[in-house]
Amino acid sequence: MSLPPLSRRAMMRGAVLVGVGAATGGLHTLTSSPAHAAVARPTMHGTASWGARAPRTPVSLISGRPNKVIIHHTATANQTDYSLARAQSLARAVQNFHMDSNGWIDSGQQFTVSRGGHIMEGRHRSIETLNGGTSFVFGTHAGAQNNQSIGIENEGTYMTVGPTTALYNSLVNLVAYTCQQYAIPASQIYGHRDFMATACPGDVLYARLPQLRADVAARLAGSGGGFTAVVDNTTAGRFTASGNWGTSSFSTQRHGTDYRFADPVLASDTAWFKVNIPSAGTYQVDAWWAANAGYNSSTPYIVATSGGNQTIRMNQQINGGQWRNLGSFHLNAGDYNVVGVSRWTSAAGYVIADAVRVRN
Ligand SMILES: [Zn+2]
Repeated sequence: MSLPPLSRRAMMRGAVLVGVGAATGGLHTLTSSPAHAAVARPTMHGTASWGARAPRTPVSLISGRPNKVIIHHTATANQTDYSLARAQSLARAVQNFHMDSNGWIDSGQQFTVSRGGHIMEGRHRSIETLNGGTSFVFGTHAGAQNNQSIGIENEGTYMTVGPTTALYNSLVNLVAYTCQQYAIPASQIYGHRDFMATACPGDVLYARLPQLRADVAARLAGSGGGFTAVVDNTTAGRFTASGNWGTSSFSTQRHGTDYRFADPVLASDTAWFKVNIPSAGTYQVDAWWAANAGYNSSTPYIVATSGGNQTIRMNQQINGGQWRNLGSFHLNAGDYNVVGVSRWTSAAGYVIADAVRVRN
């Protein structure tokens, strides 16, 4: 979706509200799955918290559950105010646009995730029905999919850059919880463009949907304790490297738009990935690199553990384009440089700094 001007707007105007009965999938009983821990309910800010206007007419509820989640971007600026206040004002702006310009009864989407990672309720009653898991709000965000999907807007424009780490992590939390509540398989996560002629949710965010599906699947399988943070070399404010590190998009195995590379030298000159660790404890640390036969076979990854730095060497000639586990480490709480790539290796070939993931 987007704020004005917008081609989708015309299409969405044609979205006809069909009667609730026609779209009813029937009540279902949520099967319990005690084999693994439930996905935690994320913090969601309801319409009352951001001063939403009342819907023009009462929102329609559909009995039963949606069968998919559809990802959007708001096509607004990639601004750097990550506050809750900003997320609230965005929620109001989107609602005003949808009601006043599009003529809809309320915000079109069920949820919006801000660049600061704040999860905002869009159309009224979206949180209440999500928590209940047996009905959902009939939204207006993806044409013929409206009566069978949950729409999530992501603040920003993701044609050439990816979302913030905070946004992505909250998106994983929200989608995982949604999939759990409605028993939607992680495979049923889509982009708006899968169903309509639109650039939404942007080329870069759309290209991350396979990763989103994988991260949500892991959460649903209980392999995640609730925290996952991905930091790419392009993640704003979370990656630092000296000018000796070049930038390349040569390999299609890259994570995101590009990666950083440097010649090996007998000096550290570490490229660092900063992660906000929520609480002291044991975490899995993974790395992603673009592999090439000419890259370094013994690249030193440094993990800043609570007991001091540990170095793990990885062969970047192979196993590229995927997450590779560096191990399990005890980390202190706090927002700090957690994982680094050092240039200090006697092996030949570029060392690569592309992306890291920390999870528990
Ligand atoms: Zn969209």
